[in-house]
Amino acid sequence: MTEFAPEIDPFIIELDAAVEAHMDWTRRVLRCTVLRVPPGDDVMASEAHTLCRFGDWFRRHRDHFGALDALSAARVETVHQTMHDAIRTICGNVLAGRPGRMTDLQAFELAQDELLALLARFKTLLLTHAARRDVLTGLPLRHGLEHDFGQLRKDAARAGLRLYVVMIDIDRFKRVNDTWGHPVGDRVLRHLADTLRQCVRGNEPLYRFGGEEFLVLAQCRTVEAAGQTAERIVSAVRAAPAPLPDGSVLPLTVTAGLAEAAEGEALTAVIERADAALYQGKQTGRDRWVIAGH
Ligand code: GH3
Ligand code: MG
Ligand code: MG
Repeated sequence: MTEFAPEIDPFIIELDAAVEAHMDWTRRVLRCTVLRVPPGDDVMASEAHTLCRFGDWFRRHRDHFGALDALSAARVETVHQTMHDAIRTICGNVLAGRPGRMTDLQAFELAQDELLALLARFKTLLLTHAARRDVLTGLPLRHGLEHDFGQLRKDAARAGLRLYVVMIDIDRFKRVNDTWGHPVGDRVLRHLADTLRQCVRGNEPLYRFGGEEFLVLAQCRTVEAAGQTAERIVSAVRAAPAPLPDGSVLPLTVTAGLAEAAEGEALTAVIERADAALYQGKQTGRDRWVIAGH
């Protein structure tokens, strides 16, 4: 359920470039030890780990790495500094004509191996993350829904809350495609996804469920609170018409169907009931919300 914002492809390219920058750095270190030439501030300064290109890049994207895996992100910082400390000692000895120590070399090698392994793991995480995300809207697809539903159901039960599945479907979206063409339809979908993203709370995961259908998992204390959540969503969309290529704006509305997850009920069954409530909302005029059984 982590939110990870940047576009994945350029980020992976940057990650590869940062690792390459690190390899350049190790080449300079090797030159220092073999040819005894000073290797530069990003090796010898006491804060070298903050001066090297990799360290600088990692620090700027620290939040993104933390969102993907907080423990591994903290470990990258630790081993990166350990690696720099060891190499500073090694180069310092070489340049001063002192004999090198095996312990420093081992510390460097271990830290570097762990750093590269951590970065390889992050690359895998990034690619997995990308595969589970919708390219058009940047929202998670339904892959993680089952897992999140199970987790949130437990969280809700512990906190004495109810868990609702909220299905959201754009009203008369075919007309948008028919009038403006599919590419404009896509832009409108992106706009709507942004509106929804801004209006859901941090503990209300939002998914692109299908074509122009979105799904929210909401924990609410009462059925009235669930209604308020639905009203917040429906009115946020109503208040944010989509900009069109000719400079005008297109009014947008959605209909939402809600169903409370009963104890032990399968996600597919809850979704079916939310869908039925949504259908009822469509039949009774759209731009509204309906809660199953109410
Ligand atoms: P209703 O109010 O009953 O929901 O009417 P509707 O026109 O929205 O009907 P429906 O939900 O059945 O239609 C969905 C349309 O959404 C049909 C499909 O062409 C369009 N759509 C689905 N996914 C995409 C997409 O990724 N991009 C674009 N541009 N259109 C999409
Ligand atoms: Mg639909
Ligand atoms: Mg629709």
